[in-house]
Amino acid sequence: MSARTYEVRTYGCQMNVHDSERLSGLLEAAGYTRPAEGEQADVVVFNTCAVRENADNRLYGNLGHLKPVKDAHPGMQIAVGGCLAQKDQGAIVRRAPWVDVVFGTHNIGSLPILLERARVNAEAEVEILDALETFPSTLPSRRESAYAAWVAISVGCNNTCTFCIVPSLRGKEKDRRPGDVLAEISALVAEGVIEVTLLGQNVNAYGVEFGDRQAFAKLLRATGTVDGLERVRFTSPHPADFTDDVIAAMAETPNVMPQLHMPLQSGSDRILKEMRRSYRSERYLGIIDRVRAAMPQAAITTDIIVGFPGETDEDFAATLDVVRRARFASAFTFQYSPRPGTPAATYDAQVPPEVVRERYLALQELSEQIAWDENKRLVGRRVELLVAEGEGRKDGATMRLSGRAPDNRLVHFTPGDSAPRPGDVVVAEITSAAPHHLVSDVAVDGVRRTRAGDAWEARQSDASCGVPATGGSEPVLLGLPAFRA
Ligand code: SF4
Repeated sequence: MSARTYEVRTYGCQMNVHDSERLSGLLEAAGYTRPAEGEQADVVVFNTCAVRENADNRLYGNLGHLKPVKDAHPGMQIAVGGCLAQKDQGAIVRRAPWVDVVFGTHNIGSLPILLERARVNAEAEVEILDALETFPSTLPSRRESAYAAWVAISVGCNNTCTFCIVPSLRGKEKDRRPGDVLAEISALVAEGVIEVTLLGQNVNAYGVEFGDRQAFAKLLRATGTVDGLERVRFTSPHPADFTDDVIAAMAETPNVMPQLHMPLQSGSDRILKEMRRSYRSERYLGIIDRVRAAMPQAAITTDIIVGFPGETDEDFAATLDVVRRARFASAFTFQYSPRPGTPAATYDAQVPPEVVRERYLALQELSEQIAWDENKRLVGRRVELLVAEGEGRKDGATMRLSGRAPDNRLVHFTPGDSAPRPGDVVVAEITSAAPHHLVSDVAVDGVRRTRAGDAWEARQSDASCGVPATGGSEPVLLGLPAFRA
């Protein structure tokens, strides 16, 4: 009998991407395989997000589309996990009785057994825990990338931002021991990984659970001692906990990249207070100044919400002012939407949607112009790029590939006669700039072939002879809007 096939559909943030790599790893360790191109999977898993209003509509819409597919595919199973499952629990099988399994954010390890129980008992299985069962990073993983990996250092959050549902769905902060984190990183590097992103709802609160307020800076420095690890990134820090020891660790540890994604959310001190963000705009700008003093080439990006309840024109003007002073390399901008279950959803003075939209467009226009101006300053620079996965693209007659600079900027470069593989490293001269990427029209002069490139090549040949890419209990990246912090 051939192996049952599976598909994981991921919504939301990097933590969900990390969890989906675990879900894939768990299913492959249980004998499932990925379906051939165009083939309907026997098991479809939704790893859901609960951050925005339409997250619910989207899930139930997708479940509605799958019902006739399931009716036509005897033995097919549907599982729903992630933050929306943690929130809605049994309501999901009441609204969509053709769903077989519902599991939460604290027990992703249970998926294979829940699927089996639902199949044998021919009835839906709903299992939601209130606290973390096992740290996801101890579970098998199928990483999407051969050369870059997510490494969770903590899950959950102790903050109580009034617009955010995460603490009630992912629980209080739980920290991994530094030794476990470094052991996972070393194992990943042994598999060919050269870039890791340290992941947590609030990475710089790391250590609060074991009473070491400097644990995050120490961890960053410790990653600098891992042989073969070329690039270290982290997401997301919280301005309230961002301390100078972290800036020093970033500046003094060569493989920690000059890149910082630090959510601002609002530039108005009055709104920051309403959001319960426990910092104010001057502190935020002060951190940016100190980061730039220590790492002048650092790229700083952010998240901003417009239209938070009670936001006035003056508040919005304050946000635009901070954006002008901070000069972000890019800004993820969000229109506020009330999230049931969060304090702000019940606040008076909800801002009319047309006003929210207007502010959103104005903020996008400003932040895009600044991003473009900042990119233009890099024309003429030679930058080292980690070559990204993907076919590349044809610009007119020129074939281009893509790569990430140390500051995480995306660069489309001209490989010329060199044939870099994803994971290899090239040096490119920036010849032009666009708002969201840079271009290098000059052919790169040479490629540094890396173990990561070898790992990518090995994975291609494995895939061509049907070998699944599951890593042992080592655990994937790039480009999604940052999740809330
Ligand atoms: S926005 Fe971030 S810091 Fe605030 S509660 Fe949510 S996860 Fe925690």
